[in-house]
Amino acid sequence: MREFRYHRPVDVADAVAVLSAEPQAAYLGGGTNLVDLMKLGVQRPDVLVDVTGLPLDTVEELPDGGLRIGATVRNSDLAAHPVVRRDYPVLARALLAAASGQLRNMATTGGNLLQRTRCVYFQDTGKACNKRAPGSGCAALHGQNRDLAVLDWSEQCVATHPSDLAVALTALDTVVEVHETDGTRDIPITALYRSPGAHPERETTLARGALITAVRLPPLPAARRSTYLKVRDRASFAFAVGSVAAVLDLDGDVVRDVRLAYGAVAHRPWRAHRAEAELRGRTFSPELAGRAADAELAEARPLRHNGFKVPLTRAITVRALSELAEGAP
Ligand code: SF4
Repeated sequence: MREFRYHRPVDVADAVAVLSAEPQAAYLGGGTNLVDLMKLGVQRPDVLVDVTGLPLDTVEELPDGGLRIGATVRNSDLAAHPVVRRDYPVLARALLAAASGQLRNMATTGGNLLQRTRCVYFQDTGKACNKRAPGSGCAALHGQNRDLAVLDWSEQCVATHPSDLAVALTALDTVVEVHETDGTRDIPITALYRSPGAHPERETTLARGALITAVRLPPLPAARRSTYLKVRDRASFAFAVGSVAAVLDLDGDVVRDVRLAYGAVAHRPWRAHRAEAELRGRTFSPELAGRAADAELAEARPLRHNGFKVPLTRAITVRALSELAEGAP
């Protein structure tokens, strides 16, 4: 690993000022992804700005019934928070499905959202990768692409976003609070991430130096009936090959409201608006859930090794919604 400087900012403005002024600076949260990438030579920051000492580690209940989660709240603490467990079980389940206990004890909310793809070519500095080295090509497009995207990919990049937490937050219409050099702004989480397009190295809409300070969950009583299903190669510790975050609100058998988001299918957490539109106002059945997933996945373009992701994502959509309709969790 190269030498780097280490900076503990006195406040958020100091952190943003340092990051904005230093082209090769990076924020350090739990370090569970960044330190690995530094060891591999994929990221080579000159200075690390450690944000874990900033007062961003609280979970607050908001007057409107929502929840504000500080950016440095650890994944384990968030998963165990009583309000999260009661009002947003999809979030607790997504967190507990991710990584290992040790990693969840370190990983932060903000860092989790900004973790990098686990595409093996991205992590191998000897391989062509437009995300790591713009213009070098994409070794995954015609290489090993079993774990990669089926929706919204480009010829320049077929990577997926690895976060489970981000998928749950996408289903919950979360707002991301950001501090930039010229002030603060709120970004709907669906507007935080970019499609790969011609510039897969640009993964988010954040300005240089921007710091995520919190995420805000809106009040959503329907989310008390919500779940997260994840399919992975090992039950103990693995990234998703498919996942779904689901909220279902029924009036009798009729779908009054539904929120769905998919993981492991695209460059960003994938909000399934088409599937939701198919479901709303209709009498729920597993067959309807299957048709809704078909509508969402109609534009899927599987790569050579990942055609299985389309029926897999359909199957977990049906299972998650059926379990919720039957009263679980
Ligand atoms: Fe790089 Fe994206 Fe291609 Fe993977 S899929 S090699 S991250 S450009």
